[in-house]
Amino acid sequence: MHIGCHLSVAGGYRQLCEDALTIGADTFQFFTRNPRGGSGRTPSDDELAELGVFLREHSFAPTVAHAPYTLNPCAAVDNTLRFAREVMRSDLELLDRFPVDRVYYNFHPGSHVGQGIERGIELIVETLDLVMDRELKPVVLLETMSGKGSEVGSRFEELAEIIAKSQYGDLLGVCMDTCHVFCAGYDIVNDPEGVLAEFDRIVGLDRLKAIHLNDSMMPFASHKDRHAKIGEGTIRFGPLARFVSLEPVRSLPIELETPNELDGYAAEIASMRAYRAE
Ligand code: FE
Ligand code: FE
Ligand code: ZN
Repeated sequence: MHIGCHLSVAGGYRQLCEDALTIGADTFQFFTRNPRGGSGRTPSDDELAELGVFLREHSFAPTVAHAPYTLNPCAAVDNTLRFAREVMRSDLELLDRFPVDRVYYNFHPGSHVGQGIERGIELIVETLDLVMDRELKPVVLLETMSGKGSEVGSRFEELAEIIAKSQYGDLLGVCMDTCHVFCAGYDIVNDPEGVLAEFDRIVGLDRLKAIHLNDSMMPFASHKDRHAKIGEGTIRFGPLARFVSLEPVRSLPIELETPNELDGYAAEIASMRAYRAE
């Protein structure tokens, strides 16, 4: 099992790597820039080279870079849409400099804000076709969403449609967030195998590249998005531990996004690894 959590890069990549080791992680996620979308740090080539050596030496699973969650790649307002596209393109160019074989770039498909789901999907496809190209290394991941407000991507069919319509569809993957799918109405508590089978039928399990592991403060199918610590929410420890022990989830990078400090993450990582060892 490759498990880690969301870590801050504010103190530089060396500090991030130390934090990851301290908590027993062998993968991590980070924001490419502050989550509100401000300008990101531009790491030097030396800093990135050092990161590459660290990831190899410690046999880390691929790293997940998360786009600012305030971006709206299917915004109705031109400025908002242009901003999302500029940020995504510059993030992809940054990640392309990472001296690693594989790095993921995860983003929220966005909110169609009254334009309707079909128009939202069209704009997301247009965004991807503008910001991606075949020379860039990062593998772009669509995150499964809870469906709060007018969010696109809470149904597997919507993700499949984006993948089918993008000219780079063959390069796209999906990151499944346990809190989001549960709140979107996929019952990973009572029928985790069924949820994975449905994902396979509609999107294809070969597309599933990473997992966000979160408990939920909100009930099943609530279309809300509030993460809870593992075991303190409505999904609970057992179902989450069981879910990540299923094939193919168990071999993917698993990132916690629970409301924790480092010691809390260390405990959650240890408990997931211990469950697997049983
Ligand atoms: Fe996210
Ligand atoms: Fe997430
Ligand atoms: Zn969330």
